[in-house]
Order: sequence, then C-alpha cells, then structure tokens
Amino acid sequence: MSYGRAPHILIVGGGYVGMYTALRLQRKLRGGEASITVVDPNSYMTYQPFLPEAAAGNLEPRHVVVPLRKVLKSSRVISGTVQSVSHGRRVAVIQPPLGDHFELTYDVLVMCPGSVARTLPIPGLAEQGIGFKSAAEAIYLRNQVLSRLDAAASATEAAVRRRALTFLFIGGGYAGIEALAELEDMARDACSFYPDLSADEMRWVLVEATDRILPEVSPAMGLYTVKQLEHRGIEVKLKTRVESLVDGRVELDSGERFDAGTVVWTAGVKPNPVLSRTDLPLDEQGRVRATAFLQVDGAPGAWTAGDCAAVPDLTKGEGATTGPSAQHAVRQAARLADNLVAELRKRPIRPYEHSYAGSVASLGLHKGVAEVYGVRLRGWPAWLMHRTYHLSRVPTVNRKARVMADWTLALFFRREIVSLGSFADPRREFRSVATPTPAVSASAAPSGASEGSSGS
Ligand SMILES: Cc1cc2nc3c(=O)[nH]c(=O)nc-3n(C[C@H](O)[C@H](O)[C@H](O)COP(=O)(O)OP(=O)(O)OC[C@H]3O[C@@H](n4cnc5c(N)ncnc54)[C@H](O)[C@@H]3O)c2cc1C
Repeated sequence: MSYGRAPHILIVGGGYVGMYTALRLQRKLRGGEASITVVDPNSYMTYQPFLPEAAAGNLEPRHVVVPLRKVLKSSRVISGTVQSVSHGRRVAVIQPPLGDHFELTYDVLVMCPGSVARTLPIPGLAEQGIGFKSAAEAIYLRNQVLSRLDAAASATEAAVRRRALTFLFIGGGYAGIEALAELEDMARDACSFYPDLSADEMRWVLVEATDRILPEVSPAMGLYTVKQLEHRGIEVKLKTRVESLVDGRVELDSGERFDAGTVVWTAGVKPNPVLSRTDLPLDEQGRVRATAFLQVDGAPGAWTAGDCAAVPDLTKGEGATTGPSAQHAVRQAARLADNLVAELRKRPIRPYEHSYAGSVASLGLHKGVAEVYGVRLRGWPAWLMHRTYHLSRVPTVNRKARVMADWTLALFFRREIVSLGSFADPRREFRSVATPTPAVSASAAPSGASEGSSGS
C-alpha cells in the first residue's frame, strides 16, 4: 500500500505487544519512514509475571513497570483511553485523563489493548472482589493482607478475627496460584512479628471450578502444586463454584459457608471490551480475527496480536489459536513489527509460528514449579529458573539492574511488613479535619463519650 508520505502508525495499548512493537519499529524504521503514536491510559508497561513478587514485597512495584516515555523516545506517547476505532475512516477516538475526547487519524493501526478479567454475575463479587492484573492491584493486595493481620491482632471478637484472617482466591491459573502462594508466604513470614497471632490461624482458600489448577503445565505438575499448597495448609477446592459473596459471606456450591475479609478474582481473562467499539472483525469470543501474518483478517492496514487477538496457532491443528500469554505476546510483537516494516518496504511478510515452550511459576520464596520444553522442575530449582527466565525477559537493562538489586537486598534483610493502607485514600485524614462538623451541644453528646476518643 502506498501512502504518498510518511505513514502514521497508531498503536492502541502500550503493554507487552504495544511496547515491544513500538521498540522494534523505532529500531528498524529509517528516519522519516513513518511516525509512531502509542496510546495507553497508563504511562508505563507492566511486566505482569512479576506482579506476584511485587505483591509479596520481594520487588519494589516501580521496578516491575517500564516508563513508556523513557523507552519510546522516537514515538509519541499519548496518555488516554481509546474509546472507539473506525478503521474504515482511519480514525480513533481518544479520551485523555483531563478534558474532552478527541479524534486521531492514522494510516496503519496496531490493535493491542490486551484483556480484562472475565467475571461472572456472582452476587457481591463487584463489591467484595479485586482482580490481579495491575501494579495498583498488587500494591493494594499487599497492604490489604498486612492490614488484615494488624486488624486481626487487635480484634477482640473471635468472629471478626477469623474473617480478617480468611483470604479467598477464585481461579487456579498461573496468575491466581502465584498471587495466592506469594501472598501466603509473605503473610506467614509477617506473622512471626505478631506475638498475638499464629500463622495457623490464617485461612487461605483457593476455589477452582475445574478439576485441576495450572492448565499451562501437565496434569502431574498441577497435582504436585496442589499437594505443595495443601502441605502449607492452603485449602484447594477443585470442581467448586462460588455462588455468593454478599457482604463477604462466601457461599460455595458444595454448601459450605464462611466469611472472608479478602476476595481475589483470578478466574481468567476475556478480550478488552473496546474491541466491540471498532469496525474490526471479531470471533465468537470477542477477539480480533487475525491472519497468521498478524494482520487483521480482511482489514488492510490493521495489525493485531496478544491477548486481544485470535492468532492461528500454526504449530497445532486447524482452527487452533494462540493462548493469552506473555510468551506469545513478546514473540508476536517482534513478528508484527518486522512484517509491518516489510510491508511498508513492499517486501514479503512471514507468518507467526512458535510452539509454546511451557511455564514457570513461583510459589513463594525458594518454592516453584516449572515445565519448559518437557523438562519438569520442582521446588528450589524451579524457583531459580522462574527468576532467571524473567530476569532475562524483563525489558531494559535499567529494570534488570533494579530487579537484581531488590533480590540481592532481600538476601540480607527480611521483607518489610508495614501496611501503608492509607495509600488507597491518602486524603481521608485531611478531609476529615478540613470538613467543618456541626457543633454538638454537651446535652446532645452520647453518654460515656470522653474527650479525645474519636472512635475511628
Ligand atoms: C499476574 C499475572 C502473571 C502473569 N504471568 C505470566 C507468565 O508467567 N508467563 C506468561 O507467558 N504470561 C503471563 N501472564 C500473561 C501476560 O502478562 C499477558 O498474556 C500479556 O501481558 C499480554 O500482552 P498484551 O500486550 O496483549 O496485553 P497487556 O500487556 O495487558 O497490554 C494491554 C495494554 O493496553 C492498554 N489498554 C487497555 N485498554 C485500552 C484502551 N481502551 N485504550 C488504550 N490502551 C488500552 C492497557 O493499559 C495495557 O497497557 C501473566 C498475567 C498476569 C495478570
């Protein structure tokens, strides 16, 4: 396709696919050959496989994200949410954080807004639950778990204490298992600093609707992981569904009922809903239909990859598509960028083909499970492989150095156990003192109220 001028490439989403595609395009394109714009509500790319370690306090959360403006120096980065795309008109509508939305025209589109949590209409889920896909959620969960220990240690009622110390995770994929295992490991470690708390008082529960966890590894490794978790006192409930979470009261389809102070939803992902506000062709799961060359099927000038795309898996049979994983996202980004450059230069493009190498998962400090190219590792060697693999993969030398520094410090000092829960609402205290309260006459004061007792 000829544009008659340097084409404008619009990349929707600055995650794995978006950032790696832009990085490679920057490197491969000659000056003036094309301009690149990346749009993302966040100013950073999140290295999601490190989120469980960030939640557990092994890594500083800032070190698991990559600032887009710092690495994409020859691209334009727009902080904003793409609301819709009309590829027919080559226009995207963008909502910036402040002010009115605006239209941005482009010549070439790279659609990669990833996925969102796949939820079910369970009563109470929206009010009680939290997902595990972002750095903000990882930070929140760390504070939440530590603040529940603080609250339980000073609670006088047994039921309140029990509820605070009950942590429910729903969904047994690698995100859920790693988050659960790392946070439990961190909480167990923290308990030693609470004379009034015993680690055995905590209740960690995993509920999974199917008959196995970690579908990314073989059934034998999934079973091994269940045994490991159970050995640590974690309850694993397979073939079980949550029916209600109203007010933190958990109701399972097995008939079991209990209260939980923390509910984490990690039961899979679905394509980003923004895709339904585009004129791109979608499959029955809502993913963008892609060719093996990573072009959007039947939409010249549009490319796609990653969690949002139905990319044919050439290593498997007819109709198979690649699964949502960083492993595919990174490799697809490289192929997509190379094909895009080749097309601009009117050279042949090549199909994406990669057989899934396997998975590595960390289950807490010095614990893990790995299955890569058929080689199975457990415990300490698997954990070491997890760290080595992800250190080699995390983008930029700067991030690698920071991650290494965090891990090295952790060899000599134990994890911080402070909950900075007020991060969730830092203005609360100021608001309460700055909001004028109506004067209360002495006769209206509740009996027994004494000076200085705020009750909060
Ligand atoms: C906790 C966790 C652990 C994981 N561990 C592993 C692992 O060990 N191995 C592995 O292979 N995979 C792992 N994954 C999966 C992997 O991270 C994803 O498959 C990968 O991030 C997909 O890349 P992507 O570019 O498609 O989406 P993302 O990386 O999610 O990027 C999507 C980007 O689009 C942006 N965006 C969303 N909506 C809009 C919009 N409307 N407009 C503009 N921008 C938008 C988002 O802000 C985001 O930056 C893990 C995932 C999680 C959550």
